[in-house]
Amino acid sequence: MTTIILKPKKEESLKRFHPWVFSGAIQRVVLDARHTSDAPDEGELVCVRSSANEVLGTGHWQVGSIAVRILAFGVEDLPKDFWRERIRAAYRMREAIGLVNYPHSEERIQPHNDTFRLVHGEGDFLPGLIVDVYAETAVIQAHSVGMHVCRNEIADAVVAEVPQVQNVYYKSDDTLPFKAAIEGDKTGWLISSRDRLEQRESEEYWSTENGLSFRIDWLKGQKTGFFIDQRENRALVERYARDKDVLNMFCYTGGFSLYALRGGARKVDSVDVSQKAIDLVNINVAKNFPEASNHSAVAADAFEYLSSQKEQGKTYDLIILDPPAFAKHRDAVKNALRGYQRINTKAIEMIRPGGILFTFSCSQAVDKESFRLAVFSAAAQAGRKVRILHQLHQPQDHPINIYHPEGEYLKGLVLYVE
Ligand code: SAH
Repeated sequence: MTTIILKPKKEESLKRFHPWVFSGAIQRVVLDARHTSDAPDEGELVCVRSSANEVLGTGHWQVGSIAVRILAFGVEDLPKDFWRERIRAAYRMREAIGLVNYPHSEERIQPHNDTFRLVHGEGDFLPGLIVDVYAETAVIQAHSVGMHVCRNEIADAVVAEVPQVQNVYYKSDDTLPFKAAIEGDKTGWLISSRDRLEQRESEEYWSTENGLSFRIDWLKGQKTGFFIDQRENRALVERYARDKDVLNMFCYTGGFSLYALRGGARKVDSVDVSQKAIDLVNINVAKNFPEASNHSAVAADAFEYLSSQKEQGKTYDLIILDPPAFAKHRDAVKNALRGYQRINTKAIEMIRPGGILFTFSCSQAVDKESFRLAVFSAAAQAGRKVRILHQLHQPQDHPINIYHPEGEYLKGLVLYVE
């Protein structure tokens, strides 16, 4: 196997189980005999050693500032059953917290919730890999070339270890590094149960979250098709929704809207810039609340919608703001914070006295404190008395590896606005 030798002292973070090797930490690369080129192949499994030749771990090589993502510490190669063991450990964790079934129960699936994240990258000791489960289908997303190379082994391990999963769809066209030389399709079915082969392209897939049905479009939808990370926070919206006029801004497929309707909201307005998302919201509302006449969905830009509604004197009792990541990189943080401040000011201004704002940031590069400061500035600018009721975060099936604090990304505040 190819060996990566680190510069002196650069082994420290690996010894503390941080799984990334930065390219600047590398002293030299010793290619194994089969290489004809002068560098490892992207996605190749390599062994990392300290300058004193101590084995630190094995991981995937990639061109870029993170040169190696460690899969297993302290070993020269991956153990034989590596994928099955790691997937089993991830599933066991979801089982232990009662998310996929109750421990010691015969039921292998919770009838009221068959939607969960099975693998959350570094949080499940599998850097570069996301696996989301929707009823009997798992959707795999590779963020590293190494995970792309291993996609079939991963799919086999998921089907073998997760009782509810029969099909595996692969969706990595937006997540693999675009400069990398990738062999094979970045999107498509990896495993599909036989009776589905004919109809799979046209079939409608439904998945259940806390008893609510959602149409999942992983073929064309965003991310793996749904935002599982808001499950717990949606349940909190349900608690506060009774008799309220609700605005769900950046609604995507209407997650928060359905919970608000079930919680007894008087009226729910769902807004998203994407018409495709709005079509899905309407489908989801019709499926869960066929009689509902208190929901409307509009395709519009958030900033324009809030400005025009405000001009018309419109107000709400409860607003949810769940925008896409405003900062995709560190250098975009300043602009992102300005964006958060602007949108939150507009929302706070539209909240009736005694109303509630749920506001989120899913930008990994924006930390909790900076986000809170942006919302603080928004409150001050709106000139309202504001108190924090809850500080929200990502749910348990999006775990943060304690050695990899970068895994923390979703933060939210629930504000009481007087
Ligand atoms: N709250 C959603 C997830 C939101 S993802 C849920 O619970 O599932 C962010 C959404 O913001 C996407 O659906 C995207 O289409 C939408 N969006 C992006 N830019 C926007 C804009 N300028 N105005 C309104 N919506 C926007």
